[in-house]
Amino acid sequence: MRDPTSFLRQEYEELVKDDLDWKLRELQGPSTPWCVVDGRKVLMLCSNNYLSLSNHPKLKNAAIEAIRTHGAGSGSVRSIAGTMDVHLELERRLAKFKDAEASLVYQTGFAVNSGLIPQLVGKGDLVISDELNHGSIIDGVRLSRAERAVYKHGDAADLRTKLEEAEGRPEAYRRILVITDGVFSMDGDIAPLPDIARAAKEHGAMLYVDDAHGEGVLGEGGRGIVSHFKMPRDLVHVEMGTFSKAFGVVGGHVSGSRDLINFAFNKSRTWLLSGSHPPSIPASCIAAIDVLETEPEHVRKLWGNTVHFKKAMSSLGFDLGRSETPIIPVMVGESSVAKRLSDGLMREGVFALPIIYPMVAKDKARIRTIMNAALEQADLDFAIDAFEKVGKELKMI
Ligand SMILES: *Cc1c(COP(=O)(O)O)cnc(C)c1O
Repeated sequence: MRDPTSFLRQEYEELVKDDLDWKLRELQGPSTPWCVVDGRKVLMLCSNNYLSLSNHPKLKNAAIEAIRTHGAGSGSVRSIAGTMDVHLELERRLAKFKDAEASLVYQTGFAVNSGLIPQLVGKGDLVISDELNHGSIIDGVRLSRAERAVYKHGDAADLRTKLEEAEGRPEAYRRILVITDGVFSMDGDIAPLPDIARAAKEHGAMLYVDDAHGEGVLGEGGRGIVSHFKMPRDLVHVEMGTFSKAFGVVGGHVSGSRDLINFAFNKSRTWLLSGSHPPSIPASCIAAIDVLETEPEHVRKLWGNTVHFKKAMSSLGFDLGRSETPIIPVMVGESSVAKRLSDGLMREGVFALPIIYPMVAKDKARIRTIMNAALEQADLDFAIDAFEKVGKELKMI
């Protein structure tokens, strides 16, 4: 008899053969710049913990205290009996931080994109998306029954062409949604949001920005891309983000008008049908907002480290692509070379992962480094020396 599950091993073995399978590394202890990975002490250059807030005493103490006062779990979904005072307090604090009318917290950023996008658009609508948008946006768009168009990466002129084409159709779309990452996670470049917003506004389209990598990094005190460009709030209808990166905890969120938030929580199935965060999570997130509001040194140090590392790496002759943020790809080209560079760095005590096809185009393999506010000058120099040594061995520089 045929084994109905034989594809499981078959497909996995194909991934292993093509060297496309994920080999999980075990972090033995906290995500700090010097950490223990698979039993070795290494310098972490690939976490999203930009400000090292996951280790901040205020965040840790807030979680412990909330467990004491509210328990280890919430007991329900938000919509039934799982909304605690601490969840609502976080949403008020976030809206204030973002200077928005209202905010809503989901379990993850992935749950925002996959739950909200298919409610904002459906049959008879159009989504126009940057070609390099995050996978969770792609899934959200697929779950909607809207038509899709893609514009060239970061190209507001091409977006305009797509909007004009939509307008020229005999039958008008019911709604049009323009959607973009704020900071692109593989290249570290910033979307030209003011130009995108102008184009969307001229054509009466909604604008949705995914600021997962911009929050805690860009703008005044880490308020994100809308603050970075000093844009009027009402030009961006949906500002989405996550507490899992610079905020150092977990949880997705969306900010905008009160109408948006009322709509979002009544319609998103990922929000309505999935258990709410244990109270320790919103408590730590509130503490993270506190830290951003009162300790501006973390964001400053992150950028100081970014400038130092980029300057040194460029002068060694490395190609850093189009990075404008603490996401700094070291462009390699061939997947096999990227892997050898990553292995060599690990041997030298630096943990930085290769990003290869299918995550990026076949000839655009790279090592993606991510700067961190907790890195000291000596740590950066240690990493730069390792890149120099291995880069020379591989004749990259
Ligand atoms: C990480 C990421 C997400 C998902 O956020 P989670 O809260 O980790 O689920 C969504 N969009 C972008 C651009 C991201 O980088």
